[in-house]
Amino acid sequence: MYKITIAIDGYSSTGKSTIAKQLAKSLGYKYVDSGAMYRAVTLYAMENGFISESHFNVNDFVLELDKIKLDFEFNEALEFSEIILNNENVEKQIRTLEVSSFVSQVSAIAEVRYQLVKLQHEMGKNKGIVMDGRDIGTVVFPDAELKIFLNASAEVRAQRRFDELISRGDAITFEDVLRNVNERDYIDSHREESPLTKAEDAIEIDTTHLSLQEQYDKIFQLVNMTLEDYE
Ligand code: C5P
Repeated sequence: MYKITIAIDGYSSTGKSTIAKQLAKSLGYKYVDSGAMYRAVTLYAMENGFISESHFNVNDFVLELDKIKLDFEFNEALEFSEIILNNENVEKQIRTLEVSSFVSQVSAIAEVRYQLVKLQHEMGKNKGIVMDGRDIGTVVFPDAELKIFLNASAEVRAQRRFDELISRGDAITFEDVLRNVNERDYIDSHREESPLTKAEDAIEIDTTHLSLQEQYDKIFQLVNMTLEDYE
């Protein structure tokens, strides 16, 4: 059966990863969370003193990029691949609000994007992949057979992210999460390098009033229609 490439882009916390993971599982495709890659690079920058509230030493950080090794390791119990930064599983550490507060600055750097897009091309070279992010349909896989662009109101997105962080036991407020969602969207959409934008041929879905199941059903229908075109 012909395998396609599925690109899922959109604003922060629109549920891209949840949908992408489920799709990959049903199709027997590889799933890649490109945001996890940018988050892991950000964690490295934080842990090694390149970025803090008061400074960002971009020049020295860029010189260290070749010291960052990223891998994905399949977790049998959770049935999805977790990110490994220099041989350490950092799946939990990269999801904090602190990493979220720096990640958009780090991912705006051209050299960072260049390195990560190179890795993403390699992962998708045999197709049969679902990748979610901000520039997958525009820059990483402009020839993807199916491109989805997800959106939802900022309040609904912040509530979803807030619930997720609270269920992990993080001490945060809804206002902090909402501010972060808005800040990231602004930086991600206005950066010079590969800004977040809908690819011309992407199908936009507003998930504000859709349950997860409704989102999934809608997207799975689009996947089936696309697959039929290639039969
Ligand atoms: O998807 P997630 O919210 O985990 O992504 C975290 C951040 O990584 C985004 O806010 C964005 O700054 C960056 N990102 C990106 N390009 C991608 C995926 C994520 O710039 N393809």
